[in-house]
Amino acid sequence: MALTGLQIFKLLPKTNCKKCGMPTCLAFAMQLAQKRAKLDSCPDVSDEAKEMLAAAAAPPMRQIKFGTGDSQVQIGRETVLFRHEEKFHSPTVIAVSVSDKLTGDDLKARINAINALKFERVGVKIGANAVAVINQSGSPDTFADVAAQVKSSCSLAMILCSESPEALAAAVAKTADAVPLIGAATEDNAEAMAKIAKENNCPLVVKADSIEALSDLSEKVKAAGVEDIVLNLGGLSLRDQLYNLTRMRVLSLKKVFRPLGYPVLSVLPGDEPLQHVGAIGLICKFAGVVVVDTVEPQAILAMLTAVMNIFTDPQKPVQVEPKVYTIGEPGEDAPLLFTTNFSLTYYTVESDVESSRIPSYILVVDTEGTSVLTAYSGDKLNEKVVADAMTKFKVADLVKHRKLIIPGYVAVMSGKLEEATDWEVMVGPRESSMLPKYLQEVWQ
Ligand code: SF4
Repeated sequence: MALTGLQIFKLLPKTNCKKCGMPTCLAFAMQLAQKRAKLDSCPDVSDEAKEMLAAAAAPPMRQIKFGTGDSQVQIGRETVLFRHEEKFHSPTVIAVSVSDKLTGDDLKARINAINALKFERVGVKIGANAVAVINQSGSPDTFADVAAQVKSSCSLAMILCSESPEALAAAVAKTADAVPLIGAATEDNAEAMAKIAKENNCPLVVKADSIEALSDLSEKVKAAGVEDIVLNLGGLSLRDQLYNLTRMRVLSLKKVFRPLGYPVLSVLPGDEPLQHVGAIGLICKFAGVVVVDTVEPQAILAMLTAVMNIFTDPQKPVQVEPKVYTIGEPGEDAPLLFTTNFSLTYYTVESDVESSRIPSYILVVDTEGTSVLTAYSGDKLNEKVVADAMTKFKVADLVKHRKLIIPGYVAVMSGKLEEATDWEVMVGPRESSMLPKYLQEVWQ
């Protein structure tokens, strides 16, 4: 829990020497408490005080990374229970399982199917984030071989799942440079698993069937020298996982209960028929990683859509870059429309203009990511904003007709816009779904 200014003051030298740039130690302490100063600015603070302040300032939930390069993922570092309190920081990692019982063409097909789980949504490229190799064969050699094959043919971050230290050590030996998340450490194997994690610098999953056992286990592997820990409530039903994940989030964030201050990995059993439904529940409440046993694109896309929505900063709507977008190869007679830079608005308009099969220009004006009506009512969209965008993006150089099609919902601004721009304003339809008809019948 963050310290108050007075608590910090008690740990400072109290000499008021001003070397930190503050008139007194108390003033410096107040600045530190508000995160407006760095402890390093005081050269005389003792090592003991530094340690205590660092421990108190540590986030309630540790951030864990695994994978490498562009495929690296990060989980944890969450600070709030509800998104509207601030925002969620680390989007849930969607991991797809690969059983080490698969061989030959079946294994290749599974990996290819995982590699193909890529989508584009509102202009953002998304896809499965990780692959979880499951040791179902019981054989250390088979597990290691399948892990090596997955590593060589799939660039996603890896998770190695086995409760056999022998199997896990064999698989890590072939994949350690990919920095996999490994586990699970249980009450029975914790010492051996912690040793593998520590020697190979891999984050470690600890698994137990109750919150109490899980917190004891995380303390145990931490005492064995493992800092990067991921929690797993193994063997619980989906309902019980959701209930306990919420309790764990409250304990870690509100009570700053350090043994539970780690992200959570949840596994959806393969016999769970609606994998995306269970996964979305876990994404909402509060899994850092969800391992699913499906490669159905529609199921994965539903999960990724939920992740995008839940982990969007509520203060910052998803936006597209304000500029002129071209649909097809428009010429100087092509229609010119404008809309706002709220992603959903833009991509809806773009799709509807494309359906008209009439090459067009779409001028996207900056309304801080708000939709047409919201922007207009908040005065983020007015004749000046549009006129300035038309000048900035030189639309007069693109078309010779000097006609601008505006959204029907802001027909009320057409007069002022004509005055501000000296262009003819054409009022388009209210709903963008009517744009194809409008462009084909009114514009043509
Ligand atoms: Fe106090 Fe340290 Fe600042 Fe000196 S440098 S005034 S001891 S906080």
